[in-house]
Amino acid sequence: IPPPPPDAPVGMKQDGGFTPFAGCKLFRQLPISRKTKEGLKPKYKEMSEIQRASLPHSLCGRDILGAAKTGSGKTLAFIIPVVEKLYRARWGPEDGVGSIIISPTKELAGQLFEELKIIGKNHTLSAGLLIGGRKDVDAEKDSVSSLNILICTPGRLLQHMNETANFECSQLQVLVLDEADRMLDKKFKGELDAIISQLPKRRQTLLFSATQTKSVKDLARLSLKDPEYISVHAES
Ligand code: ADP
Ligand code: MG
Repeated sequence: IPPPPPDAPVGMKQDGGFTPFAGCKLFRQLPISRKTKEGLKPKYKEMSEIQRASLPHSLCGRDILGAAKTGSGKTLAFIIPVVEKLYRARWGPEDGVGSIIISPTKELAGQLFEELKIIGKNHTLSAGLLIGGRKDVDAEKDSVSSLNILICTPGRLLQHMNETANFECSQLQVLVLDEADRMLDKKFKGELDAIISQLPKRRQTLLFSATQTKSVKDLARLSLKDPEYISVHAES
């Protein structure tokens, strides 16, 4: 897609701003793979409002800052574009880490992993849940770099970045921060900055949370490019 002309109105998207499939209500109407549609079908038919508002943009490759209350279906709003991006790129075992999804707690990360299993059931992508606690970090070290999608808590991800000899994420395509408002909080600042500094800047970034962050500093930290702000207040 060509860049906007020099005299383009202020605010025009770098990619021209055209958003196909913007009026879709059902998952099966979206431009997504048959494999993903088959995974969704038994459980999910109609999109929730945040999914309807964000997926047409995220599936175009745009950065997203999405806000919608707890329980509104934000998980699928980022898991679907992650899976589709890697599927379209024919991502395979030798391509390594293509997406990192960061969540503030082990419990939430576990829930994301369960949802990814449903959506990714028919795909051949590999995924790992990297969280602190019961699992031995050394046992993970051999496999992390060959996994395509990492769902992790910041501490455990950083531990691998620092300690795992062959850890590689230079091909990263999509970074997701779930509960972004919490992730951008002071509590995680040190860890998150250390993580971000090791990630390639050229990537898609999806941030979802219950409240909208528009702090210019936060956006600069994450090198968001021309993000789409999507805020959904009431569920329809
Ligand atoms: P959030 O992250 O916004 O708090 P979740 O992604 O955890 O919300 O989703 C909350 C619940 O809604 C989950 O049980 C999920 O399975 C369900 N859900 C999400 N999207 C849909 C949908 N389009 N149709 C039906 N149920 C959905
Ligand atoms: Mg959530």
